[in-house]
Amino acid sequence: MGERRHIITTCTRDCPNTCGLTATVEDGRLIRLSGDPGHPLTRGAACVKCARYVHRVYSPERVTHPMVRPSTKAPWRRATWDEVLDLIALRMTAIRDASGPEAILYYQGYGERTALKLLNRYFFNLFGGVTTTRGSLCGGTGQASQNLDFGERVSHDPLDHYNSASMILWARNPVSTNISLVPVIHDIRKRGGSVIVVDPAHSKTVPLATRHIRPKAGTDAFLAMAAAKLILAAGAEDRTFLAQHSAGAPEYLGILAQFSVEDLCQRSGVPVADAQLLAETLMRQKPTSILLGWGLHRHEHAHYSLRAIDALGAISGNIGIAGGGVSQGFEEYGPYDQHYWGDSLNPPRRSLRMPTIGEDILNAHEPPIRMIYVTASNPVCMAPNSGKVAQAFSQAEFVVYSGHFMDDTADHAHVFLPATTFLEEQDVMASYGHNYVGAVNQAIAPVGLCRSEFHMFHDLAVRFPFAERFRRPVRDWLHDLCAPLRAHGCDLDALANAAFRYPAPMVPYADKTFATPSGNYQFMTEFSPELLEKTDPAYPFRLLTIAPHGAICSERTMTEHTPLPVVILAPAEAARQGLAQGDTVTVRSAVGAIRATLRTQQGQRPDVLVAERGGWMKAGHGLNRLTRDLASLVGLGTPYYETCVAVEPSSGPPAPRILVVQHDEDAPGGNFCKSLERAGARLATVMPGKTKGAAEAHGLPQTPEEWDGLVVLGGAQHAGDDAGSPHFPALLHLMRAFDAARKPVAGICLGSQLLARAWGGTLRTMDAPEFGFIRFTPTDAARLDSVFHGVDAIPPLMSYHEDAFGLPQTATLLVRGDQCPNQCFRVGNASYGFQFHLEADAAIADNWIRLFRHRPANAKTAQYDEAFFRNLRADLPVLAEQSERFCRTIAENWLRLALRE
Ligand code: SF4
Repeated sequence: MGERRHIITTCTRDCPNTCGLTATVEDGRLIRLSGDPGHPLTRGAACVKCARYVHRVYSPERVTHPMVRPSTKAPWRRATWDEVLDLIALRMTAIRDASGPEAILYYQGYGERTALKLLNRYFFNLFGGVTTTRGSLCGGTGQASQNLDFGERVSHDPLDHYNSASMILWARNPVSTNISLVPVIHDIRKRGGSVIVVDPAHSKTVPLATRHIRPKAGTDAFLAMAAAKLILAAGAEDRTFLAQHSAGAPEYLGILAQFSVEDLCQRSGVPVADAQLLAETLMRQKPTSILLGWGLHRHEHAHYSLRAIDALGAISGNIGIAGGGVSQGFEEYGPYDQHYWGDSLNPPRRSLRMPTIGEDILNAHEPPIRMIYVTASNPVCMAPNSGKVAQAFSQAEFVVYSGHFMDDTADHAHVFLPATTFLEEQDVMASYGHNYVGAVNQAIAPVGLCRSEFHMFHDLAVRFPFAERFRRPVRDWLHDLCAPLRAHGCDLDALANAAFRYPAPMVPYADKTFATPSGNYQFMTEFSPELLEKTDPAYPFRLLTIAPHGAICSERTMTEHTPLPVVILAPAEAARQGLAQGDTVTVRSAVGAIRATLRTQQGQRPDVLVAERGGWMKAGHGLNRLTRDLASLVGLGTPYYETCVAVEPSSGPPAPRILVVQHDEDAPGGNFCKSLERAGARLATVMPGKTKGAAEAHGLPQTPEEWDGLVVLGGAQHAGDDAGSPHFPALLHLMRAFDAARKPVAGICLGSQLLARAWGGTLRTMDAPEFGFIRFTPTDAARLDSVFHGVDAIPPLMSYHEDAFGLPQTATLLVRGDQCPNQCFRVGNASYGFQFHLEADAAIADNWIRLFRHRPANAKTAQYDEAFFRNLRADLPVLAEQSERFCRTIAENWLRLALRE
């Protein structure tokens, strides 16, 4: 074991918990990431996403070199930093000079919100100011709504919730998104208090709660009003607060008087007993902390619900008292010197609305958007109406993307700037979930050639006349950016070892003064109930695209995606629709349609369809292909949950049933099988000799009768070794039987050798193994073959074999190689042999690289030296991405043979 170090740092991911973390590093390599027990608030807690982050840092799919391409149709190639920064500077200058600076859109996402991130916009402001964004994909509506009520949104310090006798988690799911609240929930329950979850969906927090109330999505205002009326009816309202510290109370009480409790509960879709429970809890288990979740924001008129819940807190006497309050979030950029955004350096520049970014880019004229520069975000995937966002991005002539992976937005880029993760950076991080500020201490050196965004802009600034205003060491910048922190006594050196609590009240509004025009709490005085009750019989389910439990939004890799996204419906509703768990369904909205796998979940409302957001479009997910691009009335938030959908059994011919024969754990179906599933196939995999099948030979069926196609995968076995693989004769027979029945066969690597053998081809061992991503050439026959339809060029494809074959006499060669000539052939009616591994995704290829690299070296493998592996690893993200596209086309075309199209 080498030198082991433990580095305290702070999680910078888009998560309110902002945990203090400990990075364990051995010989310069991150080996573990866990919660820092010394953090005063998060106290060693960390979520499931934390430990997994180590794999993300070293993922074979992570782009670790700058990449460039002349058009989005051209392949990526590695470039130097100087080359890409020169190119960006040249294009920025040319576009500004020709069309003005507003022809450039800077899209700064919420992926990371550290102190140094202020300087990203500062860079563009030094440049002259460009088009930016306004509004939010997340919590803007909540903040703006609470600003109307409280003057300035201030939340209770999370540690104050230990003073709560009860808690209402209103659309918040701490188990998945705010892990440090879980001990508070346990504490309240241990003390006999109630914890009520209000959520149309069944979240992972529900089992921790005393009760789950399930209002119709977006109708929380009615539920809050019903509970308020019950408190008023019981005479338990906080009269002093209403009389002395509030404005608009008579008007709000007038609004309440227009409805009966029964009417309000009916509008919210809950029994009156639920409103009674809320009211009783607020009256008898005081103080109650009410915590607002992010799902509440995602409606066009969400401010009504948010303000009605604030009002419930006010009427019940929970404002300004320890353990009470209606808490929504914290100002994460608050502890920094905000003048470094640099917005005052130029006249006001154009901004586009984030919630409708696709539409706004397309409608931008004078000047049109010619260039887009994206940091810390994946808007093509995450912004609503992805189809339109993709269209808008593809119209820009130059897109720069700073990120980690080849995701949906990267697909539209011309330059890919590989960004460091927070473990490779020095910075300072505040939170939107609590009051602590923590140091981001660099734990490891940047992976590959990755750079922090700060260093990217720093080195880009060198190419402009304002260079000297930007070029300063990180330490100096942090010193200045953190001036407000220093003014409050924070020593930046000490911060490196211990989080600092930014001065903010534990209990806001304790003195009952509010930053509203009247100085009092401001009740909502206008309410239009009909705006919360829109339904469309054609689309009976509200689509709730909730925060994933195991990922932060679209932070995932291509290989981590399941073939299809999972959507969740209440079991009774699924049965009513004639659907069952595991069915492939089509989810349709007014905007688009996707295919998904259905799951059922008890405890969920029947009129919602729930799905975890963030899956990529290119991986067959992309739920935002369904969502409408609207903006909320207050706060310019994104009302994702205004999307209503219909769920139907997947249309078209019955799903073809494909039998997959897998020979080796290390040689799974990868992209080929995922593509088949995404294209509508149902797969069943057998591992001969390992899959149980009493009536079948070695787990293989004896006839193709129940199947529509056969895939035979690779493996380390020799295709002629029947003694070692006694199922081979039966498999050869089966391959011929499928073809005779005009059912397509695909053999990959070993599978192709077996296919050749089944049709009379010869087997041989090559002089040396063929390994790596290799360029092959299609024959003229391939250009006419239906399986190669739509293939313009064959990208380099993974090879890993030492055995080869001579073509059967009746076979047609489709792809030729240099070292091994027979790379792909067609034989019989519809049987295809692929010697190359078109199915290999980055994870499979990475595993094979590891296995091959550790084989004993000999003269035959001398060419595979360290430089070979280094280059292969550096190019792997791009190679895997190109290979996946090729594989998808081939798999879809092959499946058409099974469908007899
Ligand atoms: S993702 Fe959130 S809960 Fe998980 S480690 Fe980071 S801040 Fe903590």
